[in-house]
Amino acid sequence: MKAMRLDKWLAHTGVGTRTEVKKAIRAQRVMVNGEVARDPGAHVTPGVDTVEFDGEALEYQAHAYFMMYKPQGVLSATEDVRDPVVTDLLAPQDAHFAVFPVGRLDKDAEGLLLLTNDGQLTHQLLAPKKHVAKIYYVEVTGTLTQQDVDAMEKGIVLEDGYQSMPAMLEIIEADLTSSARITIYEGKFHQIKRMFDMLGKPVTFLKRLQMGPLVLDEALQPGEYRPLTEQECNALQ
Ligand code: URA
Repeated sequence: MKAMRLDKWLAHTGVGTRTEVKKAIRAQRVMVNGEVARDPGAHVTPGVDTVEFDGEALEYQAHAYFMMYKPQGVLSATEDVRDPVVTDLLAPQDAHFAVFPVGRLDKDAEGLLLLTNDGQLTHQLLAPKKHVAKIYYVEVTGTLTQQDVDAMEKGIVLEDGYQSMPAMLEIIEADLTSSARITIYEGKFHQIKRMFDMLGKPVTFLKRLQMGPLVLDEALQPGEYRPLTEQECNALQ
């Protein structure tokens, strides 16, 4: 791995923001190869140089992986001129990782969103050929029926003529409004809303529960996030 600035290295391990770690260096809390570090701009090489913070050796962390419960009203983006974006919800010590959302959830949709700066993993999860399963909870206007289940299983033809891949619809409640779980294996723009529109039963609520092996942590409230566990990271590789 290439050498990098000490302050950047420290920030990447998550001990603080660039400003905070510069302060820590001035306060002589950082040692490089056993000697007190004085220059935040000094170059260190991950895997070669040892860095200690308050006497504790730090592992360099190149990639960050966060599971977020995206709330409604926030864009799955890293910047926008008008609306709040999911990266605004990150704490300062996590913001420097420059993570981005893997795939999109509509502004009015909520639920599981993976944020990472690992481009390779992102490609793996989003590549159309990989057919990664995504599971959503939906509420729609109208009564869902077995016919709708069959139509989803066959693959809905969208309004632009696109033939969707087979999707699995599991009805939870069917009344004047209905709720269901739906599993899809692709991710076209507004895919689920467009599929239900074709059935004449528009979506009124959409929440992503699962993406591949990653399941939304029920302990997370909308707007909250946490790092992936080691098992979750391994399951994604
Ligand atoms: N399908 C949709 O229509 N919207 C989403 O946000 C995700 C899937």
